[in-house]
Amino acid sequence: MRVIVTGGAGFIGSWVCEAYISEGHEVLVVDNLSTGSEGNLPPEAEFIECDVRDSAGLEKAFRQFHPQIVNHHAAQINVRDSVEDPSLDAEININGSLNVLRLCAEYKTEKFIFSSTGGALYGEPEKLPAGESTPTLPLSPYGISKLSTENYIRYHSKNHGFGHVILRYANVYGERQNPEGEAGVIGIFCEKIISGKPCLIFGDGEQTRDYVHVSDVSRANLLAATLKEEGTFNIGTSIEISVNDIVRILEEVTKTEFTTINKKERPGEVRRISLDCSLAVEKFGWSAQVTLHEGLFRTWNWFSAKAG
Ligand code: NAD
Repeated sequence: MRVIVTGGAGFIGSWVCEAYISEGHEVLVVDNLSTGSEGNLPPEAEFIECDVRDSAGLEKAFRQFHPQIVNHHAAQINVRDSVEDPSLDAEININGSLNVLRLCAEYKTEKFIFSSTGGALYGEPEKLPAGESTPTLPLSPYGISKLSTENYIRYHSKNHGFGHVILRYANVYGERQNPEGEAGVIGIFCEKIISGKPCLIFGDGEQTRDYVHVSDVSRANLLAATLKEEGTFNIGTSIEISVNDIVRILEEVTKTEFTTINKKERPGEVRRISLDCSLAVEKFGWSAQVTLHEGLFRTWNWFSAKAG
């Protein structure tokens, strides 16, 4: 199949490209390189440098490649930046996505796969882990723009006859991760430990997240390409992990002594979240395989190698 991966030069997108290429699919990456880099691209992938807000540039990519699948990972990913500039977040995450959706309709794409968020969509759920039917109460413009895009995808899919799979990721971490992303704490701590600086913990460190390794996420994208059904699926581990847990595991994995400093809690951050992923298990046999210990080991080795 011919697959366009927007944001394919980024952390998760580049893993997704590798997964598709390893299964014999042809991949064209569309990315403006704002946070991604050409160095992340697998050599077999074609590449067009283009912003998803640039309709004409995007159309050129569709005209040239005629994708059967569009996998949309390009986004403004920083939750705090979305709070500072909700309009810019909406321009990229909503209007940019609408450009891609319009072209999917025009060029008769068969399927649209979207990287949504489970971590920033459900607010503070009463019951954890949160299933897909948990009320969506995003606490940030980033969560709002992802939720709006989900709704536009369902609308376009229904009215223009292409299939869709929406993957609501937990906090994705791993090799090549972007410290600005939702699982930024892991990348930031690795970099601090390497440079001998203290790791900052905002609040008491007992706030929890659900951390899923990027190799499990790329496998979910591969399965989504052949899934017969449409739907919206949480992609995580269902396990709540606190920042203090991350510190403890990093101490074991890095075998390095490092200090932590507790700072004032940051407003607007979710206290506890984990995702119920039983629907993905049931509908396409996906579940996370990489344990946090193993994933942190791989991630730490990657950051260490990068630092030389
Ligand atoms: P990333 O910053 O590494 O990847 C984003 C990519 O999109 C980059 O290559 C960037 O250059 C590109 N991009 C940004 N704006 C663009 C634009 N206007 N036009 C074209 N390309 C543009 O981040 P990531 O962590 O790999 O995130 C990928 C996707 O997964 C995003 O949609 C993000 O919202 C979603 N997601 C990530 C996480 C996480 O924990 N990392 C969790 C939930 C959802």
